[in-house]
Amino acid sequence: MIIYGTRSAHLNSIQSHIAVCPNCETKGSTLISIYRRHAHIFWIPIFPLGKSGASHCKHCKVSLRSNEMSEPLKREYQKVKQEAKGPVWQFSGLFLAAALIVMAGFASKNNKASELSYLENPTKNDVYEYKIGPKQYSTMKVMQISKDSVFVSLNDFEISKSTRIYKIDKPENYPNILYGYSKQEISTMYHSGKIFDINRR
Ligand SMILES: [Zn+2]
Repeated sequence: MIIYGTRSAHLNSIQSHIAVCPNCETKGSTLISIYRRHAHIFWIPIFPLGKSGASHCKHCKVSLRSNEMSEPLKREYQKVKQEAKGPVWQFSGLFLAAALIVMAGFASKNNKASELSYLENPTKNDVYEYKIGPKQYSTMKVMQISKDSVFVSLNDFEISKSTRIYKIDKPENYPNILYGYSKQEISTMYHSGKIFDINRR
């Protein structure tokens, strides 16, 4: 269950010295308060929505929304509302999302760097994920390595989604038939995207 909705943050309240209460006609008794709503998910503010506010008369206790205010009071309210700055924390969710994207970027860069080192120095049991054709993915496992070649066993199975490829990467799926590729060929397959992932455990 995702809990989401909107909440308001109080931005500013000022005591007006000139406004006359439309209800009891007392001058200088009116407090103008401004709020800003924000969308939240699990109470984490995601981004701010609009500002709103109300006036409150300390003398007769009447509270008025902007559409109930007298013209002079409304003008003052609009000015206070315009100048009220919302707190940055109402953008928390956007900052969080940006941070996650940056972190994911670093993680993927790291992953690419280690793949390149796996490519240069193949090790027994390295698994190369490769594309056979549209919606056809499979793996090959490094079984032997010589000075300039690797000998792989091709997985007996293929799968239609590259993200599910781990499901077919099982020891019993690799037959005892080996195919030799030069390291140069493997590198070409990697850089052309035919081999799209290298896993080492
Ligand atoms: Zn009043």
